[in-house]
Amino acid sequence: MPDINRRGFIRSLFGITGALPVAQQMAEARSQVSFFWCNLNNGQVGFPTGLVVPKERPGSIMKLVAAAALIDEGLYHGNEKYECTGTYRVGKESVHCQNAHGRIDLTQAIGKSCNIFFAQATKHLTARCFLDKAKQFALDKPCAGTASGAFPAEPTQTASLHYLLGLAPDLTPSALQLMRLAALIGIAPGATLAALHSAENLDMKAKEPLYTSPLTAQSHKVLAEGMRLSATSGTAKKLDVDDKLKVAAKTGTTPHGNKFQSYVIGYFPCDKPAHAFVLFSPSGTSQDSAVPKARDYLMSTTWP
Ligand SMILES: [Zn+2]
Repeated sequence: MPDINRRGFIRSLFGITGALPVAQQMAEARSQVSFFWCNLNNGQVGFPTGLVVPKERPGSIMKLVAAAALIDEGLYHGNEKYECTGTYRVGKESVHCQNAHGRIDLTQAIGKSCNIFFAQATKHLTARCFLDKAKQFALDKPCAGTASGAFPAEPTQTASLHYLLGLAPDLTPSALQLMRLAALIGIAPGATLAALHSAENLDMKAKEPLYTSPLTAQSHKVLAEGMRLSATSGTAKKLDVDDKLKVAAKTGTTPHGNKFQSYVIGYFPCDKPAHAFVLFSPSGTSQDSAVPKARDYLMSTTWP
């Protein structure tokens, strides 16, 4: 039997054959999706689409960090609801949702990725507090041998809104850092994640520090339930329609010129997380592109 974690084997599993020269990989990576996954028990990371790791604005994936900060800093107590009517003004800016979500709580706001809930709930969440929580999730640290994306040494704005909507140009974690975020949410609160390292380069394992989930029992519950809601009836509902893998997920879409690019991250099975993944699509919204493309990868193999 080939080793399931060998990249060459993984590439062939996903129907991708042959190794491309790095320059060609880089050129192709700009126009193709990137998919990475990791085994939460042994830390091995698979690179089925190649070694080029995107570092883009993460969009609404950052709402997970905001939700954890709200709960763990005592700014959200467990059942407050906010009304989403589709448009909301914050100072000179307007925040929008595609549909009015009505009166919802934090779990539902994660599942539906409600911008207006978060704009209201985070009025007292400063950028500094948000970034402190982002650091606890290691969004300023390298991952599996890949450098960290941009992370502000000092917040360039006092409000957390642009950071938590994942639109700030100075916060662009790598796709692998976002995968590690999903992994740290998936494992039990306070648990330590195995050192993430390329399945092909076992020497790297020793160099990667260990990270511990910064979540409390309460924030873990809300984030896990919110991500589960996203995968079953929210923005990632097309990821696993038959609920075969029991995925928990979060999507993010950002404008890119006059088009969109998108992310989806997640872990599964939700009741005993064994794998985490990330997919970045350089074109299309999460619902049109990242989610269906991630579904193709997730469903094209048998997970150990
Ligand atoms: Zn909304």
